[in-house]
Amino acid sequence: MGRINIAIDGPAGAGKSTIAKAIAKRRGIMYLDTGSLYRAFALFAIRNNVEPKERLKIEELISQAKIELEYIDGEQHVILNGEDVTSQIRTAEVSTCASEVSALDCVRAFLLDLQRNIAKENDCVLDGRDIGTVVLPDAQKKIYLTAAPEARALRRYKEMIANGDTVEYNDVLRDVLYRDQNDSTRANAPLKRAEDATVVDSTNLTLEETIDAVDKIIG
Ligand code: C5P
Repeated sequence: MGRINIAIDGPAGAGKSTIAKAIAKRRGIMYLDTGSLYRAFALFAIRNNVEPKERLKIEELISQAKIELEYIDGEQHVILNGEDVTSQIRTAEVSTCASEVSALDCVRAFLLDLQRNIAKENDCVLDGRDIGTVVLPDAQKKIYLTAAPEARALRRYKEMIANGDTVEYNDVLRDVLYRDQNDSTRANAPLKRAEDATVVDSTNLTLEETIDAVDKIIG
């Protein structure tokens, strides 16, 4: 029997990870945060002082990067060359760099097999930008989760403040808009709704309402 694969795509800050986690928990299946893989590679590039535009150096880094996922007490941990970098990949610097390196064909190709292999071996909910269009075009269920940029920025801002970060709302909004632009205009696997994905707009929905709406669509 085929695996159950549920794809949740959408722009930064739409609530994909929270929703995907909740859906996975309700159904007792795995959650795969595909953005964390791009983030781990971005962290590797930053640590090695390699800029996304330095194509050859990025290719060299790919040959040196080993990115793995581990699940500890049901939580996904990202392992970069043996080191757990789960908490280090959440900074604004890594977010921006992840968006930039993710536009490179070689980086996408590197992470594609990893995502497909996990999906082949596990019933899972995956969240990302191109799951329904490129990674798993045959996923049984596809959701495109979106919200107005201001609503997404406000949620990110509150999340960061709660984490003890010092940030300005306007800076968060600028980052959200920058990533939207980058993610949706890149040539390779841009952020776009798969034709057979159902759109959920969470701008005016609470978290619970969004989870219920997505759950209902999945059936
Ligand atoms: O989802 P998250 O914000 O953690 O993703 C970080 C970056 O990784 C995104 O801005 C996007 O550029 C990239 N990404 C991607 N494809 C995915 C998941 C994330 O290009 N499937």
